[in-house]
Amino acid sequence: MLPNLSVEDLIEQIKSNKVSPEEVTNHFVKKTALIDPKIKSCISTAFVKGKDGILNGIPFMVKDNMEVIGTKTTCASKILENYVSPYTATAVQKLLDAGGTVIAKTNMDEFAMGASTEYSSFFTTKNPWDLQRVPGGSSGGSASAVASGMVPFALGSDTGGSIRQPASFCGIVGYKPTYGLVSRYGLVAFASSLDQIGPLTKNVRDAGLIGNILIGKDPKDSTTVEKQIDLLKNIENSIEGFKMAIPKEFTKGLSDAVKNVLFDAIDNFKKMGVKVDEVSIPSLKYAVAVYYIIAPAEASSNLSRYDGIRYGLSIDGESVDDIYTKTKDEGFGREVKRRIMLGTFTLSATYYDAYFDKAQKVRSKIVDELKQIFNSYDAIIGPTTPGVAFKIGQLSSPLEYYLQDIYTIPANLAGSPAVSLPMGSINGLPIGLQIMSKRFEDEKVLRIGRNYEMIRGKFPLPEVVA
Ligand code: GLN
Repeated sequence: MLPNLSVEDLIEQIKSNKVSPEEVTNHFVKKTALIDPKIKSCISTAFVKGKDGILNGIPFMVKDNMEVIGTKTTCASKILENYVSPYTATAVQKLLDAGGTVIAKTNMDEFAMGASTEYSSFFTTKNPWDLQRVPGGSSGGSASAVASGMVPFALGSDTGGSIRQPASFCGIVGYKPTYGLVSRYGLVAFASSLDQIGPLTKNVRDAGLIGNILIGKDPKDSTTVEKQIDLLKNIENSIEGFKMAIPKEFTKGLSDAVKNVLFDAIDNFKKMGVKVDEVSIPSLKYAVAVYYIIAPAEASSNLSRYDGIRYGLSIDGESVDDIYTKTKDEGFGREVKRRIMLGTFTLSATYYDAYFDKAQKVRSKIVDELKQIFNSYDAIIGPTTPGVAFKIGQLSSPLEYYLQDIYTIPANLAGSPAVSLPMGSINGLPIGLQIMSKRFEDEKVLRIGRNYEMIRGKFPLPEVVA
């Protein structure tokens, strides 16, 4: 038996011949067959084996908005229900080239729009800590699969928090790299100025290990840059003397329960010789509003390609317009339609200045104010989410869902790196600590996270794994 080992531990076990790569893969395939019927993390199973490399025998899962050749990429949408990928996303390919094996595609909110997987057109994934609750979203399938031990790591995508928020709800680590570090080639575009791919892992060292494999310039994604970054090299160096900022805007409406966990985290940082200051970043209060103008605007443009002619579902009609209308009406779910309508409205000639243009200006203002803070501080910290995982069906209005990402959205607007790792628990449910820094300071973000993890000690596992 392989207890709930990290990627690094598994590599070690394989290297020292304690277990063979095949045994490792088989173990996780079996475990998935056993646990997935309870949690429902996977949309489809796959078996795509990579080359020889450091990840030999290590299986992983991929959010179903990334292409893996020969597998279905549905984006949890009826419009792509039967779409088979003709190629493989660069991020996935890099992991395959490093020896990894894809064993499943994971559930998500349709087109990554949502915070719970309740907006998947197929089914809702369950939180391994409490099956009545959501795993978070939109990468909820990937997060729940890692938390319940089906795979040692998985890939997610993060446009406004979709890696970090489910990581927070599931008690694992979710890392959104700096915008431009990881290629999005083969990631189905949601909002192109915000989307990033990143890993969901059991601990911060694994986030560094997988991150190192993912990072790199890709000629197929012109937003990527060449940077010499080694996320593991100094990851356990002391952070004594570091300065952290907690924005007032992040703590204002917090419940006492979350505040208590946060205060414990701050105490831990102080024990490590870190200075923690409360600061004010006034423009942060507009982050959610800005995001819900910019993201739907970009989405309305990106999603126009699903027209019933080029990809996926096609409903016949009397004219081309009729085909478009019927296909989109049948193929897209309510939330996706809402975003497309919001986006086309704010981009329309009459309203462009009042909404889209203004949102871009406020985005710049947020970026400027964050830059100012990063001139004097190593990182901004706070809770990843306003609370713990909510119950399936508990939230009713779109706004309640939108507010889930109140703390995660700023990193996307600024293109900053950010990581969420378990901060503590409230009534047996995990909640994440978010660490965010300047663009390309990914090493620092993970180093702070790893130091916090070391002082915090091992985080428990949900019972479903035990
Ligand atoms: N919850 C946010 C939204 O619905 C973020 C989603 C994401 O990061 N993909 O847009």
